[in-house]
Amino acid sequence: MTIQVDVAVLGGGPGGYTAAIRAAQLGKSVAIVELDKLGGTCLHRGCIPSKSLLRSAEVYATLLEADKYGITVADGALSLNFNKVQERKEKTVEQLHRGLKGLMKKYDIQIINGKGRVIGPSIFSPRSGSLAVELADGEMESVVSTNLIIATGSRPRHLPGLKPDGVHILSSDDALQLDNLPASILIVGGGVIGVEWASMLQDFGVQVTLVEVGGRLLPGEDVEVSAELTRLLRRRGVRVLTNVQLKTEELSINADEVSIHAETSEGNILITANKLLLSVGRQANIEGIGLENTDIQTKNGFIYANEHGQTTEPHIYAIGDVIGGVQLAHAAAHEGVTAAEHIAGHRKDAIDPNLIPRCIYSRPEVASYGLTEDSARSKGHDIKTGKIPFQAIGKALVLGEADGFVKVIADRKTNDILGVHMIGPHATDLISEASLAGLLNASPWEVGQLIHPHPTLSEALGEAMLAIDGKSLAL
Ligand code: FAD
Repeated sequence: MTIQVDVAVLGGGPGGYTAAIRAAQLGKSVAIVELDKLGGTCLHRGCIPSKSLLRSAEVYATLLEADKYGITVADGALSLNFNKVQERKEKTVEQLHRGLKGLMKKYDIQIINGKGRVIGPSIFSPRSGSLAVELADGEMESVVSTNLIIATGSRPRHLPGLKPDGVHILSSDDALQLDNLPASILIVGGGVIGVEWASMLQDFGVQVTLVEVGGRLLPGEDVEVSAELTRLLRRRGVRVLTNVQLKTEELSINADEVSIHAETSEGNILITANKLLLSVGRQANIEGIGLENTDIQTKNGFIYANEHGQTTEPHIYAIGDVIGGVQLAHAAAHEGVTAAEHIAGHRKDAIDPNLIPRCIYSRPEVASYGLTEDSARSKGHDIKTGKIPFQAIGKALVLGEADGFVKVIADRKTNDILGVHMIGPHATDLISEASLAGLLNASPWEVGQLIHPHPTLSEALGEAMLAIDGKSLAL
């Protein structure tokens, strides 16, 4: 069978389904080809399930220190039922999955369940454009479209000699499906996913060792944020080791134990844990999707796309994790909207990667947008900074979560805000006001003039903006 639509979308994750909805809103007929479940990594193997587990872990850890809030939990009255934790996660995912399917119906978007591959030539391009789809029952279907959006996402990256087996060596996909919590875990990779899992598992009472090959956790974030996060994770009992070279050839696995030698600044050490979680980044899904039938170029393993999302074949767009950059769901969704609007000729605005907030849902949370202090300096900016510790913010003290700070970096000459970096309670919610300031090109003084309600955590951002010119009233 052949389906003909204005816009075909390959991949139904947050990039793909957002692009599809926007294209449909703009009057296009749309089909999504998805080999697994609508919602992609984010809904089924990423954002939502991991945040559900993180929330359970946070509640558990908070109850363990209920005493701090003047509440006594009688000895033995508190217990963790990990099956129920997992059930709650599944329920949340299923509720959102149902909602998503409803949205597709509302916008009359056709969902084709199968593995898609670009073929060519099509009636719209001498070279390529149609999709061949292998359906679950082995039947083939083709989708012919004027425009195609590739949104095939990414999958966990492996290390040579450390291939997940789902039992002893886990990817983040495997970890989300654990039936029981291990007593101890070695997490390899101190990026976003490694840090979130370290924080969550430590809160669940697992003994966590987090190793990073580089000199610090979260290498893309501001140095001061990395240092604060490391300090706070260590204070909670996470063993954080940096500058670690794992000797994968000296890996040994027995019944319920993984041991591996590692070269560290303290010499050669042996690390032993019940499980090993590999979190060393994500690899774009570019294989088997028919790129060889196109003139689409790739760069460092990702599809190259311009600021409107167009690949080197202008009628084919690529968005989300498959193009690299900031591999986050809201980035994929924003790129999806931009691509759909460009296709419909409705929008000329380009994607500004600088404005995409970066969020890490550890405890405490980390969030940022724009340049770090180092990157601002290396771009030649003469900078000034303002920093407010959450200790100076009444609401943070009321919450009993006053670790961390908000730091603003601005250009001394132009007074432009170059970057905002936060580590502390609800940082991932607070960052939106900072991004709005960036979008509106507001100066630190202007954000400082905003009347922030009291007592709220948002006061920290206002005060950090004022602190840039020594005008904070909180310090
Ligand atoms: P994906 O969500 O990966 O979707 C791609 C879809 O394409 C998949 O459904 C796949 O089945 C389909 N597909 C692939 N090939 C084909 C084919 N040939 N034919 C048909 N279909 C195909 N981001 C956040 O913003 N916040 C978070 O809290 C967050 N937490 C995360 C936690 C974890 C553990 C992980 C792994 C990721 C997390 N992310 C988070 C990242 C986020 O999940 C991704 O950035 C986002 O899902 C990317 O969206 P996408 O649409 O580009 O790709």
